[in-house]
Amino acid sequence: MTKRSARQAVFPAPGHDHDACASDALAHAEAICAERATRLTPIRRRVLEALLASHQPLGAYDVIDRLAKHGDRLSPITIYRALDFLRDNGLAHRIESRNAFIACGHDHGDGDPVVFLICERCGAVGEAAAAAVADTIKTASRAAGFTPKTPVIEITGICSHCKAA
Ligand SMILES: [Zn+2]
Ligand SMILES: [Zn+2]
Ligand SMILES: [Zn+2]
Repeated sequence: MTKRSARQAVFPAPGHDHDACASDALAHAEAICAERATRLTPIRRRVLEALLASHQPLGAYDVIDRLAKHGDRLSPITIYRALDFLRDNGLAHRIESRNAFIACGHDHGDGDPVVFLICERCGAVGEAAAAAVADTIKTASRAAGFTPKTPVIEITGICSHCKAA
């Protein structure tokens, strides 16, 4: 597994070096694909790059629009297939409440719960460390004889940068 740099904040400050963010995440994706002997095909890579353009989640049609600026207009099925691949390999997540997708550069296991912090002002989505939450959910589920799938917890609020503004 590649190690992400510790400088990566949950909500990177406005004006941070986002090119570095995006290229770190792409390098991470390439390492994951190499490790799993799958291929980050040009389409998958372009979809990931579109998601990495900002810290706001994108809907599937936003991805199509973004990619159409630099090339062909791809069909929704092509985009959804690429998104499925990225999600299956932990490189992107779906934000249910927004019906949108966000790239993930974290090293977490396939079934690990994910906590999203969604800023209602700027729309940025941060992924919080969730190990303790994961344990609590697993314990509570087990006590109920329940088998959880990948739990996703979405919390809306105001990010530190918007709060300060
Ligand atoms: Zn960034
Ligand atoms: Zn993630
Ligand atoms: Zn914000």
